Amino acid sequence: MTGTLVGIGVGPGDPALLTVAAVDALRSADVVCYHAKPGGTSHARAIAEQYFRPDQMHELLEYPVTTGTHPDGYAAALAGFYTEITERLSAHLDAGKTVAVLSVGDPMLYSSYQHLARLLGDYPQRIIPGIPSVTAAADALGMPLAEEDEVLSIIPATLSEDALHASLATCDTAVFMKLGRNFPKVKKVLAEQGLLHRAYVAVKVGMEGQRTCRMDEADPADMPYFSVAVVPTAHDVRSDLGGEDVEKPKGSVTVVGLGPGAARWTTPEVSRALREATDIVGYTTYVKRVPERPGQVRHLSDNRVEAERSEHALQLAREGKRVVVVSSGDPGVFAMASAVLEVQHTRGYEDVPVHVLPGMTAAQAVASRVGAPLGHDFALISLSNRLKPWDQVTRRVRAVAGADMAMAIYNPASKKRTWQVQEFKDIVLEYREPETPVIVARAVGSPEEHVTITTLGELDPSVVDMRTMLVVGASTSVAYSTDDGPRVYTSRYYGTPEWGEKPSQ
Ligand code: SAH
Repeated sequence: MTGTLVGIGVGPGDPALLTVAAVDALRSADVVCYHAKPGGTSHARAIAEQYFRPDQMHELLEYPVTTGTHPDGYAAALAGFYTEITERLSAHLDAGKTVAVLSVGDPMLYSSYQHLARLLGDYPQRIIPGIPSVTAAADALGMPLAEEDEVLSIIPATLSEDALHASLATCDTAVFMKLGRNFPKVKKVLAEQGLLHRAYVAVKVGMEGQRTCRMDEADPADMPYFSVAVVPTAHDVRSDLGGEDVEKPKGSVTVVGLGPGAARWTTPEVSRALREATDIVGYTTYVKRVPERPGQVRHLSDNRVEAERSEHALQLAREGKRVVVVSSGDPGVFAMASAVLEVQHTRGYEDVPVHVLPGMTAAQAVASRVGAPLGHDFALISLSNRLKPWDQVTRRVRAVAGADMAMAIYNPASKKRTWQVQEFKDIVLEYREPETPVIVARAVGSPEEHVTITTLGELDPSVVDMRTMLVVGASTSVAYSTDDGPRVYTSRYYGTPEWGEKPSQ
């Protein structure tokens, strides 16, 4: 009978943190194996050795020397190492011995046991769980890692800066493993995401020399491999660690765009701002698109009261609140960003930090539905004469139509504004052929989405409402059919494309 391979998690460092099952498994093993750096000692062994039996056999799995000193390079050296230890352990298993392999933390989390277990996959295996440094670090800090609906990510600090940013963007709380030399990179990324004030490091958790501190106070030169960075729960950013006061972040206003209708079009950056807000301010319809969070205050208002809403947000921020003002689409396109800035500028709120986070604007979502009608120069025009006189609207429409640019028309109609689309159509017809493609897109990204392609001549103003956008093509816009439905694009060339004739429309 062949023996069993047992992966034993010995926990983060303290021998008292081995499980009873780990101690049992250790005591009943015939052979105990542990990895070590070249010429180094084994951390796993140091943690577990008080439970060894004196008559047990030992296998030190010593990693080969690093790159420069091996004639065939590091990968080859590792391959040779694994072949050799597989042979050594197979011999014990073939002789019916129970072979225990120690892992710091848990054997299933970033451990060298995993590769070994694959190579020895033909033998029966058993895993004994261990306490991972992930939770041990949070325990040492005395800070909850994740609460309620918070999403926790475990991120290897070895990732590139871009990958660290991307990983962080999709979680509320995080633990960075393999910190060591990657400390400056992780610190930089956390600072760039405005998370440094919530970040801590836990060094040598459960080992001799255990210490914890705020990340911005840690010494990069003194950051061993056995250290992790922790961004704990945002629920109660604790104001003290080791008795020291942590400065509370100042109040601020962040104006965000939720994107046009679909949750998947809200950027991770915006989602994070929403999760971390103390107060959400906005038009009722948009605030309702934001998932409710316990402890967060929602200030809903009518669509029209933009200045009051902006001032309210700035006042809340002055009281120390982290305020998020929501718009649909992009906050800088016919939305709250300029309203907030204008109030900040004209009513003396320059002391309040205001940030704007971009979102996808409706024109992009609408264009994507039919292809690329905005593929060349285009204009975005709001047809609403609520904030500017109709004369001004028509002057701009004429300018754009006369310049032969495609245009995306925002706010084309509302319950009260019903005649504008007909007049708009008449004006554009003075400049464009009746065959010009027009996209009528309603509620794109929502379950009520409805998109049709028509022509300028056939555009029916009565189907246009507040949730609709019109995209009117240029003379270089083409509508055609595919097996997958109708498509519209605006040529990137003016005149004949370089590869020859344009197909007829
Ligand atoms: N800040 C928003 C625009 C607000 S103005 C943005 O960047 O998208 C509101 C107008 O945008 C609506 O009247 C409509 O014309 C257009 N719009 C917004 N979302 C839309 C959607 N999902 N589908 C079609 N049009 C939309």
